[in-house]
Amino acid sequence: MYLDDITITYIQSCVADSSKVRFKAKFSRDIGEIFPYINGALKDVIYNKNIPSLTLRKEFRIITLYRDKLAVAKAVNETDAYEIIDYIKDIINETHEKKDQIEPLDEMRSKPTAIEIYSYLPKLNCRRCGEVTCIAFASKLLSGQQNAKKCLPLYEGNYKEKLEVIEDFVQMMGYSS
Ligand code: SF4
Repeated sequence: MYLDDITITYIQSCVADSSKVRFKAKFSRDIGEIFPYINGALKDVIYNKNIPSLTLRKEFRIITLYRDKLAVAKAVNETDAYEIIDYIKDIINETHEKKDQIEPLDEMRSKPTAIEIYSYLPKLNCRRCGEVTCIAFASKLLSGQQNAKKCLPLYEGNYKEKLEVIEDFVQMMGYSS
């Protein structure tokens, strides 16, 4: 088997929705070489080759794969976490098995825009994040040069749903929130 094990290393409640859990897990081997093949085989993934990372969804769950680990947001509970691990392990091993029949794709199919991210920010232009405007913050968040946690109003005000979307964007791009 290409990938033997995925071991959970960390699990705790999601920041934006405490009824769900997020977790991290470690792969028993480096799987970076398989990313372009998963990207070629599955339509709805975001492949960021600069990191490299590959993000896919399982219904509302967001699953980001790195070379040697994965990070998942919005799992239902620990049982769900183990089911997600089996699901991902199957995708990786099946992709490797059929690799010769898949056209690898080395590019990102689509990614969110700065305007899209901006629409979920508080739009206060308060500069508390260190940027002059919220749109500048959105651009840097998109390129991985800013951290969502620097926008303190997002965490202080009544922005729970927007915070959830911003955290989804950040994870989908393969950046840690
Ligand atoms: S801290 Fe948040 S609300 Fe304030 S300028 Fe930065 S992005 Fe905008």
